[in-house]
Amino acid sequence: MPRSLPPSVTPDAIAQFRREIEILLGQKVDLRVNNNSSSVLQVRHPRGKSSILSVHHMFLRGGNEITRALAQYLRRPTPTANRTLRQYINAHTHELTPRAASPQKLRLRARGRTHDLHTLAEAINQQFFGGRVQIKVTWGRGTVRKGHRRHMIFGSYSHSTHLIRIHPALDDPSVPEWFVKFVLYHEMLHAVIDPEHDADGRRYVHTREFRNREREHPDYARAKVWEKAFMMGQVLPG
Ligand SMILES: [Zn+2]
Repeated sequence: MPRSLPPSVTPDAIAQFRREIEILLGQKVDLRVNNNSSSVLQVRHPRGKSSILSVHHMFLRGGNEITRALAQYLRRPTPTANRTLRQYINAHTHELTPRAASPQKLRLRARGRTHDLHTLAEAINQQFFGGRVQIKVTWGRGTVRKGHRRHMIFGSYSHSTHLIRIHPALDDPSVPEWFVKFVLYHEMLHAVIDPEHDADGRRYVHTREFRNREREHPDYARAKVWEKAFMMGQVLPG
């Protein structure tokens, strides 16, 4: 079922946007605006008919530069147009509504056998973030999930669901509580420090600001030592 468009995307706004592209392109366009994260930008040129441009509604707010890049992309994709559009998409990924998670994916388990992630995360939130970070936290199932960017391998943070997953190998009496808290701190930093994009539009999350903030944690040095020892002495269960 198609997702409905936000109220700000009116039929008039869509018609205006289509006219602007048609003027730049010099021909009619079959414009289809969606709220679908899996078809952000698609072009088809059916024989004998107007070109079909399917775009996510984020493009309607892109201004002249984006409208020109779209018209160029329709006429003939060029490296400049591609880069402009890719950067715009990357800078607006937060507007992509994630697919509704299945009930199974939403089942969170913060209380482990040894460590209660909810309690630890709340303590970190109060100590370092003034209690303002809004995240959910769960023990993972030890598998790599598609779409979840993994960092230090011990945890991951999803910007779309605000969910922190911690590797279940850390739910063990041999793992000190302060280390679990440091991993939570790292992942919570991802919730407050925006990713940046390089000149080619590639997104990176461990920015200079991120690394500086990470080093401010009083357990930073011993966490790095502990992490290395843990990695060398033990193979993480799959
Ligand atoms: Zn990270």
